[in-house]
Amino acid sequence: MYIDLHTHTTASDGQYSPSELIKMAKEKGIERLAITDHDTVSGLKEAVSAAKTYDLDFIPGIEISTHKGVEIHMLGLGIDFENVDLVRKCEELERSRADRAQRICDYLNKLCIPVVLSEVEEYAGEGSIGRPHFAQWLQEHGYVASRNEAFSRYLNTPRFKAATDRMKPSPEEAISLIHGAGGAAFLAHPGLLKFGRKNQESLIRSIKAAGLDGIECFYSKHEKKQEEYYLRLAKEYDLKVSCGSDFHGEKVKPGIELGMHLDETIVKDMTYDVRRN
Ligand code: AMP
Ligand code: ZN
Ligand code: FE
Ligand code: FE
Repeated sequence: MYIDLHTHTTASDGQYSPSELIKMAKEKGIERLAITDHDTVSGLKEAVSAAKTYDLDFIPGIEISTHKGVEIHMLGLGIDFENVDLVRKCEELERSRADRAQRICDYLNKLCIPVVLSEVEEYAGEGSIGRPHFAQWLQEHGYVASRNEAFSRYLNTPRFKAATDRMKPSPEEAISLIHGAGGAAFLAHPGLLKFGRKNQESLIRSIKAAGLDGIECFYSKHEKKQEEYYLRLAKEYDLKVSCGSDFHGEKVKPGIELGMHLDETIVKDMTYDVRRN
């Protein structure tokens, strides 16, 4: 099956609008797609309507940045995007993001980089502002040669993080929000976690106790060995399996293609028994 359950649109920091992404997915022959923008459900109404037009099997989703010592991303799949508690929380997170955007400007200004908030807001358009928009500004103004360099030199350093912290719920809170909205909660891209397997396993054990439904075992940047390891963990802890590319568009995150091919049995038996609305 050709499928993708982790993608971003202009509602957060993706390159394509929800309708454009759905059209692209259909044209590529993707059979099932979820949109999972960062901390927002604002693109999902448009997506549902485009999915109807293009007759695509669509799963409304979200990717919530959470905090438990380190940043942990939680995916919600099959959510009711009109759920009051979820919408309210997203609005709160959005305000915190907007506030951080100004602090990022201040931080970069102190490093003698004359970025102005309104210029970055223009890149974000209607969507919420994320670090990739700052990376774009830094690249277009010649401060870095690539988006990656923008992160390693400026947007992902300990000093940057200390100066530009924003509100993040705990993974447990995110799980409960996702469940409250009728969705299933998955640990996103565990292979990107910056700590060892022992700690990863204890993280999974503790958030499983809070209701975690599954793990994103198949991820565009996972190596075969990681895939096997997370599949093993999913089995051991009786967790569902999910798969996603984390597609943002080639301009935002080069080298990530939309969609992945998975064995039908994996999809049927394990992956998509999410609580769909
Ligand atoms: P934010 O939600 O504003 O904290 O930004 C998170 C976004 O930045 C996610 O889409 C990440 O994929 C992206 N990101 C994080 N680190 C890097 C990196 N080293 N290179 C490129 N993109 C990154
Ligand atoms: Zn992103
Ligand atoms: Fe993520
Ligand atoms: Fe993502």
